[in-house]
Amino acid sequence: MKAVVAATLAASLALAWPYASEAAGKKVDPQEAARIHERLLVLDTHLDTPANFARPGWSILDDHSHERDLSQVDLPRMRKGGLDGGFWVIYTGQGERTPEGNRRARDHGLKRLVEIREMVAAHPQHFELALSADDAVRIAAAGKRVVFISMENASPLASDPTLLTAYHALGLRMLGITHIGNNDFGDSANSAPEWNGLSPAGKALVAEANRLGIVLDASHASDLVFDQLLELSRAPIVLSHTSSDAVYEHPRNIDDERIRRLAAKGGVIHVNAYPGYLIPREESPERKRAMDELEARFGDYEKLPPEQVAAYLRERDAIDARYPLAQATFEDYMRHLLHILEVAGPEHVGIGADWDGGGGVQGLEDVSALPRITQALLEAGYSEQDLANIWGGNILRVLRQAEQVAAQMAEEATGG
Ligand SMILES: [Zn+2]
Repeated sequence: MKAVVAATLAASLALAWPYASEAAGKKVDPQEAARIHERLLVLDTHLDTPANFARPGWSILDDHSHERDLSQVDLPRMRKGGLDGGFWVIYTGQGERTPEGNRRARDHGLKRLVEIREMVAAHPQHFELALSADDAVRIAAAGKRVVFISMENASPLASDPTLLTAYHALGLRMLGITHIGNNDFGDSANSAPEWNGLSPAGKALVAEANRLGIVLDASHASDLVFDQLLELSRAPIVLSHTSSDAVYEHPRNIDDERIRRLAAKGGVIHVNAYPGYLIPREESPERKRAMDELEARFGDYEKLPPEQVAAYLRERDAIDARYPLAQATFEDYMRHLLHILEVAGPEHVGIGADWDGGGGVQGLEDVSALPRITQALLEAGYSEQDLANIWGGNILRVLRQAEQVAAQMAEEATGG
């Protein structure tokens, strides 16, 4: 692992960053950066990898490559990149908000929850479900990978919000309100406002999440939902995968003023590596048509039999060659991360790169490249303690606060 990492890190030495302190500007030996990275508890708050668990022939234990099958997270690459684990996502695309659509979302959420638990149960020597901040520390110290469960889009709860109690009992510890469409709980960053923030059901869900000790996540939600979560939640909130409006203005990104208020309330913003949120990257109508046509022919990529993957990728490469998109780079990602660090401070920033959900840039194609971020932050003048906070300490602090709020609310309920 060390040799590969060293080669990757050496490539980043030539790059210059805006610097955080007088310690900045120094060159850091790649081997030293790799050693520091290896010592840290390294978590990512948005792993969309569970979408791959049901892929035919795909196993988390195999060493895949991004070029060959587009996946970005597996056990060998987690080891290589020093990734101890993170929040593994139950993602649900926003469907129709009819009783039937809500039932479909409910069933999808439960199925994905079971798939995550089955993956952990199938490989107990490598993975363990984490239910608390202390669990994460213990699991990583034992050399296993940490599996927190989170939800992106609360639509699986629309038909029956009391399901949140069952999800919590089965391991859910982070809850994002929406995806790219409005739902019954609130408005999305990508849609015209319908509720002006949270709906009444959304506000009730916030109280319930606090009661259970589930961390609230404002990524994908509208600015007003963010404001209301910040105001209503008794525990600090997070953005699990969000980048900066000041660096590149986009509805999915967040402005500096909101980042400051998030930090003032103890929250954490985890910086996203989704190319379309890092740089301008408009898709031409011709490209969109070609991609839609490709999808219509092959169907859902995650359901492709292994023998069709190569043919799919060949055709996709041809579309890329014919209608090229601007490529976001490691430098683009670092611009967002360093700006957000300047605004929030290193106790309120983490990493949520949207792996297996569209994240990843040139020079940071999968989780095996994570030590590059550590090297760049060391060169920008951040200390090992800052890095420990950024890579895991901050999200565990928020989780502990959510656990404390739940304990307080239980005491209040019994009149204690
Ligand atoms: Zn997302």
